[in-house]
Amino acid sequence: MKKLCKINRKEIRQSMPFVLSVVAKPRYICEQCARVSSDKSLLCKPVKIKDYKQKK
Ligand SMILES: [Zn+2]
Repeated sequence: MKKLCKINRKEIRQSMPFVLSVVAKPRYICEQCARVSSDKSLLCKPVKIKDYKQKK
């Protein structure tokens, strides 16, 4: 599976069903790209969103 972070702007449209399915209920955010995903293996530098919310 291609990482969400590696999808380029030309691939976004054709990957949309997949993209929507992983960003709908995000649990992780990529610290390098600001992309979000429910699956951390799809991000290059995943961090739990929950952890950030608690750090505030
Ligand atoms: Zn990334």
